[in-house]
Amino acid sequence: MTNMNEKKPPHAIALFSGGLDSALAIILMMRQNIKVTALTFMTHFGCDLGDRSSCGSNPYPIAKKFGFSVKLMHLGQKFVDIVENPRFGRGSHMNICVDCRILMLREAKAYMEMMGADFVVTGEVLGQRPLSQVGSRLRLVEKQSELRGKLLRPLSARLLRPTEPELRGLVDREQLEGISGRGRKRQIELARQFGLEDYPEPASGCLLTDAGYSNRLRDLLAHTERLTFNDLNLLRVGRHFRLDPTAKVIVGRNEQENEQIRACRRDEHLLLEAVGVGSPLTLLIGSDTPDNITKAAMITARYCSARNEPLIRVAIEYRGALTEVSIPPAADTDLRQIAIR
Ligand code: SF4
Repeated sequence: MTNMNEKKPPHAIALFSGGLDSALAIILMMRQNIKVTALTFMTHFGCDLGDRSSCGSNPYPIAKKFGFSVKLMHLGQKFVDIVENPRFGRGSHMNICVDCRILMLREAKAYMEMMGADFVVTGEVLGQRPLSQVGSRLRLVEKQSELRGKLLRPLSARLLRPTEPELRGLVDREQLEGISGRGRKRQIELARQFGLEDYPEPASGCLLTDAGYSNRLRDLLAHTERLTFNDLNLLRVGRHFRLDPTAKVIVGRNEQENEQIRACRRDEHLLLEAVGVGSPLTLLIGSDTPDNITKAAMITARYCSARNEPLIRVAIEYRGALTEVSIPPAADTDLRQIAIR
């Protein structure tokens, strides 16, 4: 039976990417007998559990080892909305780190309130990342997420104003850290001390920090009214060419990308493939004028295994109807002008 007078342990909601800093922030809490529930966010822009190029990694091994629970949350359309219209600008590419942090913290706040938890914890380190972790940005993010006083950054806490859980005595400030800057010496020392061995190397960020992906996204935003999830899935795949403001071509670079292209293909897309030779799958998206179909077929011919032949047979499929053309491969000089890179 529960004793009504028994004091409930403090409960923190932690943002957890699966990386070293957020893991240390959680462990620092747990060592003070604070219950931690970790939130791992996913978006359409990387940061999926198995995606090595992204800022996320599998959160479960560390959670299992240290005994805290993880809840996965997909930010879906909410994240797409801020990618289309960030309030606080972009980083060096299409990344929207400040808006992104605010959204994640708002979600964490809502979850904290729903669970009756006491505060939110992140692994942010003062001065570690240029856009999102300078002092003024940390304050902005805290204010905008309406977590003022309830947002604890255990790795840098002793350099920051005391938070509500510290003032209320839920957290002992003396046991928190005062780390700042890009170096990882102290984090590595703490990891060793806590027996945290298997942690991922720091990643550069989600796909929005990648130059090539950002160029494709910029092009898409310039030519589409609203992003769809399917558009975004296709942005991760293949070579992209802009034929005109209403049409683009995507060409698979290998078997796996061909499969992804097939899976993302919609009824209104034309699908092209060279006949009888090793071929990419090509999608023509948008205006299927005769000129655009010819260009898409020439691009397909250029990337098939018989690209040195003068003429190549290319099959074109649209709503179940199949036609075929014999066509020369596109010249690389022409492709360079329309490639989105
Ligand atoms: S790199 Fe920036 S925008 Fe991308 S997930 Fe990380 S904080 Fe968010």
